Amino acid sequence: MANFKKEYKQAWTSYTEEDLKILFDYADRYKSFISENKTERECVRTLVKQAEEAGYRNLEELIKTDTKLSAGDKVYANYLDKALILCCIGEKSLEEGLRLLGAHIDSPRLDLKPNPLYEDTDIALFKTHYYGGIKKYQWVALPLAIHGVVAKKDGSMVNIVIGEDESDPVVGISDLLIHLAGEQMQKKLSEAITGEDLNVCLGTIPLQDKEKDKDKEKEKEKDMVKANILNLLNEKYGIEEEDFVSAEIEIVPAGRARDYGLDRSMVIGYGQDDRVCSYASFEAQLEVVRPLKTTMTVLVDKEEIGSVGASGMHSKFFENTVAEILNLVGEYSSLKLRRTLAGSKMLSSDVTAAYDPNHPSVLEKYNAAYLGKGVVFNKYTGSKGKSGSNEANAEYVAELRKMVEDNHIIWQTSELGRIDLGGGGTIAYIVANYGMDVIDCGVGVHSMHAPWEVTSKADLYEMRKTYVAFLKNEFR
Ligand code: MN
Ligand code: MN
Repeated sequence: MANFKKEYKQAWTSYTEEDLKILFDYADRYKSFISENKTERECVRTLVKQAEEAGYRNLEELIKTDTKLSAGDKVYANYLDKALILCCIGEKSLEEGLRLLGAHIDSPRLDLKPNPLYEDTDIALFKTHYYGGIKKYQWVALPLAIHGVVAKKDGSMVNIVIGEDESDPVVGISDLLIHLAGEQMQKKLSEAITGEDLNVCLGTIPLQDKEKDKDKEKEKEKDMVKANILNLLNEKYGIEEEDFVSAEIEIVPAGRARDYGLDRSMVIGYGQDDRVCSYASFEAQLEVVRPLKTTMTVLVDKEEIGSVGASGMHSKFFENTVAEILNLVGEYSSLKLRRTLAGSKMLSSDVTAAYDPNHPSVLEKYNAAYLGKGVVFNKYTGSKGKSGSNEANAEYVAELRKMVEDNHIIWQTSELGRIDLGGGGTIAYIVANYGMDVIDCGVGVHSMHAPWEVTSKADLYEMRKTYVAFLKNEFR
């Protein structure tokens, strides 16, 4: 009897020993990447280095020297050290459209305020302003690290990473002891810890003035603990208090990503939204070396706050880069640029909610993503009647179904949660404005936006395979 039923498969049971080796090796590379790159700038720096080693050249240099590009040439464009585009020129004309992978490299975190440092009762602290959607109560009572850059008046940049090396100190935000939390425990979760409560503890030792005559009656000087912290920072990084005004310093969970589960089937780590898709896109981009259609991977910043700003997907940076590349292959015109963009196909890669037995009520189980059931396609996102969503065209989805089937990829489809509970957007709706085919694609996550997020290694593996297949795929 014919069986017309669709069954979404568990990926783990389909693997050979060889598959498993490739899968776990990939997960190890991915864990290293997210352990060592916890800000958008760190991601760009590391990926530019790896891209250069793979033969990618800086677009800015090529523009200056008017170096022409042809099939097989590889270029990258680094925008403000926070967004990155990688491109490999295909055999066919660009006007026939690009194969685009897009993901974001910013993640929820706590940013330092412009005047962050203060002292209260002989404790020095940093004031923070949270970035992106966080549950504030999740960021207290855990070890935190300090990552970022300080731009100095003389034009030099100082890189800061404190709290990742085993020998480094870490910092953190205190929570109220349960014994005195009677009032706090009655509050709503959203109010129990407020944004202004997220102050990072830095130290408690006051600066001692060694030149001062010990016998002389000491004048009590103000804020000597803060002064001591400034001294430490000046010794190590050569910075002073005013330098914080031109700094981008992010407070993130300290420590490395790790295997999760007794069977090591999952990864727990910070910033998997959306470095999990960014890293897979990057590896796929590098792997496909002589593409038919020009391939491009776009890794953007600011997705977590609406894709705004110069380094976000709404920025003209993407369009300008495509125009520059068209120019260097000798095909630029305003009309050709529009045709290139409109004729492109894109996987807008981002994470989605995976069904969680601890919180079953928020997902509709027939249209939920599951850990270990492969790469996820979201035909649409949005909230309340698909509002704010890019909905992928049925014809495009059909072609992708054929692509994953032809490449033996295990896949699933989902909606982000039950109707009217909430929702979210990605970068898909922005590039859809060019008229191109674009769909949301990625992996399911547990504890999304928490300091430590969880993904399935099988899903990572299937996602990476999907991206490689997509960059090579011939669409109708
Ligand atoms: Mn995301
Ligand atoms: Mn997010």
